[in-house]
Amino acid sequence: MTSPASKPLAFALALVAAVLGSVGPAAAEPTARRVAVVLVEFDDSALTDVPGLKRKARDLIFDAPGSAARYYAAQSHGQRTMTLAGGEVHGPVTLDGAATCDTKAMVAKAESVLADVPHDDLAVVFPNAKADCGWGGLGEMPGKRTWFPAEHLNQAAVLHEFGHNLGFNHQVRDICESGTVTGCRKDGHSGRTPMGGGGAEVGLSAPELVSMKWLAAGRRVAPRATTSVRLVALHAPESAGGTRAVDVPLGGDRLVVEYRAPGGVDRSVPRGVNVYRVPGGKYQAAHLIDGGSEKSVPVGRTLVAADISVTVLAADATSAEVRIAVGPDLPATTAKPSSPPASATTTAPPSSSTTSATSSSATTSDDPLADDIVVGAPVPAAASVQTADEEWFGYAVIGGALIVVLFGVLLVRAQRDR
Ligand SMILES: [Zn+2]
Repeated sequence: MTSPASKPLAFALALVAAVLGSVGPAAAEPTARRVAVVLVEFDDSALTDVPGLKRKARDLIFDAPGSAARYYAAQSHGQRTMTLAGGEVHGPVTLDGAATCDTKAMVAKAESVLADVPHDDLAVVFPNAKADCGWGGLGEMPGKRTWFPAEHLNQAAVLHEFGHNLGFNHQVRDICESGTVTGCRKDGHSGRTPMGGGGAEVGLSAPELVSMKWLAAGRRVAPRATTSVRLVALHAPESAGGTRAVDVPLGGDRLVVEYRAPGGVDRSVPRGVNVYRVPGGKYQAAHLIDGGSEKSVPVGRTLVAADISVTVLAADATSAEVRIAVGPDLPATTAKPSSPPASATTTAPPSSSTTSATSSSATTSDDPLADDIVVGAPVPAAASVQTADEEWFGYAVIGGALIVVLFGVLLVRAQRDR
């Protein structure tokens, strides 16, 4: 692979590059985060087994094989590192008064013992028995603070909340008209990332990797003409080389295609080709388009999206071949919504496992995401129950501000007119 290319090979590569167009070689900026971890308790609600809890927090965030530090270091190819600020888990410190789910107060108390501990991020662990927060974890999106009820502290929650800090939304699933990406309704989560109910045994999805610039240069292609692309499994070792994602414009959105197969960080990922819609180019907010077979697109099926279509031609243990058709090359018959509902259909030749019969049981494979997101700055949790609606939330804030300004102008004018 690394030997000097012969002339014919160079020519062939140039031709491929012309057809495919490699996307964005921009590399990620290295970020080293010093994460302070503080146990916080309340006058009337204490943590049990503090030494055990400190060990557990340290393991899940830094030391265990699947810890957040190791996970994000691997996913970022070493660009994102997390170290334990001060070399120990701090606390417990006690908040005055009865326990409440006051995340701001928890942060203030935690910071009070960190005056001499240089840190970038803060993770608070607290007893939830009386605080009664209605979530299993909370993270600023993006941001630098996370909160974990001690009772629910687990690996999946830790990966998930630190993912919010990186700016990742919950990754939802869209069920669309058969064979298309139109007429979609949200239904559960993707199951392809810790941000989509996938738990701790899956890697990040291709759109998430793109959002962080963690997909190595040359691994993503943007076909401008009809072509076939061999996709190597997204989380196969770097040494396996190959293209890992297709990323094409779809109106103001983008369409991203990946192949996932068990291996490496993807210990329990379902094998299959996945198609995502990226709203307005916001890769961190991509939705999985349900492909009809355990959420993936089975071999033989085509998804049609405006003037682009994606057909899965073949798949094996390590790679899949997809045909990207553009404009006049679109297959004429594939947009017909005449086939049965996606989850019940078996029309495509099953290429991999035989478990598709279980997929009709709706949402059982989705772990409910028992957490919330704090947008920007920490706010009392009760006010942050909107999940992935931060876009709407942002527009509402801007709209509200405009209305206030307009109202002020009118008021001043009215005064003047008198
Ligand atoms: Zn979440």
